[in-house]
Amino acid sequence: MDVLWAPWRSEYIQGFKDEEKGLIKPECFLCEAAACDPARERELLVVARRKECFVMLNKFPYNGGHLLIAPYRHIGGIDELTDAELCDIMRVTRESIAVLKKTSNPHGFNIGANLGRVAGAGVPGHLHYHVVPRWSGDTSCLAVISDTKVVSQSLDELQVILAKQFLKSEGTSK
Ligand SMILES: [Zn+2]
Repeated sequence: MDVLWAPWRSEYIQGFKDEEKGLIKPECFLCEAAACDPARERELLVVARRKECFVMLNKFPYNGGHLLIAPYRHIGGIDELTDAELCDIMRVTRESIAVLKKTSNPHGFNIGANLGRVAGAGVPGHLHYHVVPRWSGDTSCLAVISDTKVVSQSLDELQVILAKQFLKSEGTSK
């Protein structure tokens, strides 16, 4: 009998269990990305999975390389994060900055979360942190990226580049 070693399957099945418990919301794009099969990671723009959180490209980026870092669980508030999640999100934020510095050499970063719809959260039910690389004079880039076809192509390419770089940086925590 062939035994297929597929560790992601356990996460996948865990995803269904979480769904039963109400921790995964099928209509939430972050939950979809959190629970997806590795074969769909490129399509869903997932670039890294870590212990308590994962990283994906924002489909509607402010800038090239605009990342989202989210816990696997569908929770909306910082007060609902466990210490392990809180710590891992910060650690992965540091890792994301290192990865972006290696791949695109930004001059600076904006990091933050929008809590609640009134604060601009598109998905208020699933907490996520934005990591936005910044370059001097990049505000003019918004006009450049208004063509959605160009954006989707570059997102696809960026997913490949960043996923590779995250793979290299995995396990190099301080
Ligand atoms: Zn969710």
